[in-house]
Amino acid sequence: MPIEFETPKPITQTQFMLKTVADEMMRPRSRYFDEHEHEIPWDYIEFMHLAMKASGGGGLVPREPSPQPSPEGRGGNSARPSIGYQLVAAQIESLTYGDLGMYHCLPGGGLGAAAVNAAGTPEQKEKFLARFKDDKPTFAAMCITESGAGSDNSAIRTRAVLDEKTNEWVINGEKIFVTGGDKSFSEYEKLGKGFIVVWATIDPSAGRAGMRAFVVEGGTPGVKIVKLEHKMGIRVSDTAAISLVDARVPFENILGSATVEKTTSGFRGAMATFDATRPLVAASGIGVARAALEFLKEKLAENGIQIRYGLPRQKLSNIEREVIDMEIMLKSAWLMVIKATWMADNKKPNALEASMSKVKSGDVTTKITQKVVEILGPLGYSREFLAEKWMRDAKITDIYEGTGQINRLVVARQVLGYSGAELR
Ligand SMILES: Cc1cc2nc3c(=O)[nH]c(=O)nc-3n(C[C@H](O)[C@H](O)[C@H](O)COP(=O)(O)OP(=O)(O)OC[C@H]3O[C@@H](n4cnc5c(N)ncnc54)[C@H](O)[C@@H]3O)c2cc1C
Repeated sequence: MPIEFETPKPITQTQFMLKTVADEMMRPRSRYFDEHEHEIPWDYIEFMHLAMKASGGGGLVPREPSPQPSPEGRGGNSARPSIGYQLVAAQIESLTYGDLGMYHCLPGGGLGAAAVNAAGTPEQKEKFLARFKDDKPTFAAMCITESGAGSDNSAIRTRAVLDEKTNEWVINGEKIFVTGGDKSFSEYEKLGKGFIVVWATIDPSAGRAGMRAFVVEGGTPGVKIVKLEHKMGIRVSDTAAISLVDARVPFENILGSATVEKTTSGFRGAMATFDATRPLVAASGIGVARAALEFLKEKLAENGIQIRYGLPRQKLSNIEREVIDMEIMLKSAWLMVIKATWMADNKKPNALEASMSKVKSGDVTTKITQKVVEILGPLGYSREFLAEKWMRDAKITDIYEGTGQINRLVVARQVLGYSGAELR
């Protein structure tokens, strides 16, 4: 199936709508929540929950075209290609154009639901994901990272042991840097009961083959939020450290098989999550960079500098060349996102393209936001404008969901045909 370069109508429609959300709901609150770290943007959360509910609910999740027409003859568009991931990428880019940190406060399943989607059975998806359509906004998070086990997440030490008497898993360990961990696990009157997906080993001697993910319901005894990180950027997004001491979860909360075989299918579950989410993280950085670039162009225009597109390069001023080069970088990063999400929509293995899109976006968004601050000079450095904040926010694109270096390794392995053990 060929890639089409015309943006599908549902995507342009959603971009149009979310531009208003970005301009009206997010931007005016950006600075406040940057300066009041860990304060929860309740009005935004409630507004977004109601808005998403009105359009079917469930948060930003890729949807398949409905296979059958309804009895009244509506729908039935299985002949149409799925654009689920492409649509979600466009939604994310539109929201992060508003504010990357506030985008992380969007109710819904986030990475937790992505893990259930990637590694859970149809029954588990039904059981754990239905809550995101409930009346109250609800969150989920994913906890892989531990101290000493981030880039090399196969080194996790969190342990899950089956108590055969009660048929429960008993989990012990420490997780750090969990995005949305607090909103997903703690009890807040205004929120529904969320969950965290905790990666643990069921057999330390089996290495990656022993890794499994467990759904741990909000409020489970033995699980505690021990710290909220103070961060350089995306300060409104809670980033939690979580301890698990003899936390018990029902047997059926394991995502994937409870039997350890000599395969790395457990670990591949985690990787499948990343194949789905890395292009979306790439999209999230691109929204920030676009915000910075558009702001720069606005400021230049106010000072009488218009970009003279179409002139030979040698006739352009240095600033014009820099702006055009940034636009090229941004567009090429976005094309990489479209390719990776298009592959996901068409059920093509996209590990290579997912990592490529993440590397490209991490680089481009960091460079563009920094360049914008540089060209704006003191105005860029001042807190009067959001440019300096966008520069701080954007850097995270190059860190979470696999750092730039790690995603480059994934790309190199795929291109050169090396295994993880051969190239690390
Ligand atoms: C704000 C924020 C939110 C996060 N959210 C989540 C979340 O929701 N869930 C979750 O599980 N984790 C989350 N993380 C953790 C994040 O994914 C890790 O921090 C990241 O994967 C890096 O792992 P690390 O911290 O152990 O760094 P390290 O692995 O110690 O890396 C340190 C440096 O060494 C480099 N490096 C490491 N190994 C290699 C290598 N083989 N070759 C070349 N360079 C290498 C890295 O690229 C990096 O520059 C979050 C982190 C942050 C900062």
